[in-house]
Amino acid sequence: MDVEPSTAIRQAEVTACKRMIERVQDRFGVWPERLAADTGYGSAEMLAWLVHERDIHPHIPVFDKSARRDGTFARADFRYDLGDDSYVCPAGNRLRPRNRNFTQSRGDVGQDGFIRYRARQQDCAGCDLRQRCTPNVPARKVTRSIHEGARDLARDIASTDAYVTSRRQRKKVEMLFAHLKRILKLDRLRLRGPNGAKDEFLLAATAQNLRKMAKLIPMPAQMAPA
Ligand code: SF4
Repeated sequence: MDVEPSTAIRQAEVTACKRMIERVQDRFGVWPERLAADTGYGSAEMLAWLVHERDIHPHIPVFDKSARRDGTFARADFRYDLGDDSYVCPAGNRLRPRNRNFTQSRGDVGQDGFIRYRARQQDCAGCDLRQRCTPNVPARKVTRSIHEGARDLARDIASTDAYVTSRRQRKKVEMLFAHLKRILKLDRLRLRGPNGAKDEFLLAATAQNLRKMAKLIPMPAQMAPA
């Protein structure tokens, strides 16, 4: 339904994706219920844009670097308590955005869009699980994106049958990309600059659509030999 060239940079690809979603709605009045894409589109900001601003279900793996390789507890081992806005650690203690009352109010959200939830030093100091949790730092800290709600929705969707279906359908779309590269020779662009790329992509996608449409039209019955 649309095509948009971009440089091979994640942010540029995400911007192109947003542009296509909006343009398809403007031109055809079509609005997707879900978007299936790879982890490159699973940033917190993109998921929040889809969920909160466009009401589109993200069938996208969440881009999440919170898993730990050293065997210590990951963020997934801490339970978030929405009502209290705190995390409960495996030992049952609370981690909060602020454990002290500052005379001047400090913002909880860092410049990276994450809120840091910290355990109290006295809780960690006497904790039997400390070696499995925070062996090198006096108190454990976990981060939570301001867009965690959208990330949680994407995580929930990832465990559904609908997600499996989306993943299968995404593979079919990727076959179209492979066809563009291999058969229509779009692995190298011939025209220069962004406008040249735009023209080539548009022509290639048009050719691909025409090919598809030709397959949908039933062929007239072959004349029987005399
Ligand atoms: S070390 Fe601290 S955060 Fe970790 S489980 Fe123990 S009390 Fe909880």
